[in-house]
Amino acid sequence: MEDYKSGISGRLQNLALRIARAAEAVGREPAGVRLLAVSKTWPADSVREAAAAGQRAFGENYVQEGVAKVEALAGLGLEWHFIGPLQSNKTRLVANSFAWVHSIDRLKIAERLSEQRDVHLPPLDVCIQVNVSGEASKSGVAPDDLPELARAVAALPRLRLRGLMAIPEPTSDVALQRARFASLRQLREQLNAGGLQLDTLSMGMSDDLEAAIAEGSTMVRVGTAIFGGRA
Ligand SMILES: *Cc1c(COP(=O)(O)O)cnc(C)c1O
Repeated sequence: MEDYKSGISGRLQNLALRIARAAEAVGREPAGVRLLAVSKTWPADSVREAAAAGQRAFGENYVQEGVAKVEALAGLGLEWHFIGPLQSNKTRLVANSFAWVHSIDRLKIAERLSEQRDVHLPPLDVCIQVNVSGEASKSGVAPDDLPELARAVAALPRLRLRGLMAIPEPTSDVALQRARFASLRQLREQLNAGGLQLDTLSMGMSDDLEAAIAEGSTMVRVGTAIFGGRA
């Protein structure tokens, strides 16, 4: 007999509870936090299983692997998000296979995505990845350089700048987790005060989603807690 809490479907149920409790603990509506299931390294059949359990949005880190799953599962009505590092020679595939890109960290990549996005598709939803961990992390734009990049990305015709994304350095120090996420929230507030309209904070993963939700996350990106540990 299989325990109903085991397997992908059971773990999705557990996660929905975790998200709801974290939201309610700070007086937020659970519906204000979307779950992005990060399926990197997991086969298309795992995605199919999650989709059958009602999960709709999936995140991928590697272009080739992601595009293969997008194609294998076309027709399931899934929403695909690219969340990994992006090189300029791979932007065309990403521009036309995904609905979102979370990892914009320089203008050149954003310009290519905008130029290459198929005119028959809606604009590509994007987030700018910000380095909120200073020297402890290399990926993402520095907070000081964010306003200029955000204005330039927001002006690109085939992109829609939705918000900010961060991957803080791993730590079990909850106060530090909260401080990193709070800084991303404040950066979004500053940009919106300056006239942009960003509705998305892509922050929080399997181990720190409670802290991220407490600081205003609107989209948590969760892999391990759904699919299990990566090989
Ligand atoms: C792998 C990954 C995640 C998910 O991490 P887990 O700890 O497995 O939940 C989220 N965001 C990005 C950018 C990732 O690469």
